[in-house]
Amino acid sequence: MKKNFRLLISSLVEGRNKMSYSIPAENLALNKDIKILGNSDIELVILKSGDKLLVEGIIHFAAEINCAICGEKFVKEYYEPIKSEYIRQIPKIGAKTLLLGSDEVSRFYFQGETLDLLPLLHDTILLAIPLAPACQEECKGICPGCGVNLNLESCQCQKAWISN
Ligand SMILES: [Zn+2]
Ligand SMILES: [Zn+2]
Repeated sequence: MKKNFRLLISSLVEGRNKMSYSIPAENLALNKDIKILGNSDIELVILKSGDKLLVEGIIHFAAEINCAICGEKFVKEYYEPIKSEYIRQIPKIGAKTLLLGSDEVSRFYFQGETLDLLPLLHDTILLAIPLAPACQEECKGICPGCGVNLNLESCQCQKAWISN
């Protein structure tokens, strides 16, 4: 299973490079609460200017997510912008520093002749999905009394609380 998404820097021209990819779900496996479904489509424009690369584009993906309130799975589609800057670093400083610039462009430092874009895609997906995702705006959750999903059915104990 390919667990990286490497771009050969020597394959880029100075200036504008347009590319599109379709990435299988298993390459984007994140954690147990978020499951990417099918292929994710990525459109990128990479502006190369010497040792500086500006990567901009969009990722389209569908994810199966566990609702933080009721625990049911739901599927949502996302179109998320991608924007990041890669700057070649002189080897002596040490590898893999991630700084978040004040201009909200994430900035990575790289060495060598390839760029692994997978960390950027992971960050983009994780930022798109809220920490406590809800299956719907007004998810009613699970009844603490009898455990039914109150989005799907109402229950007797809830009525009992109201009348008491
Ligand atoms: Zn829910
Ligand atoms: Zn109940």
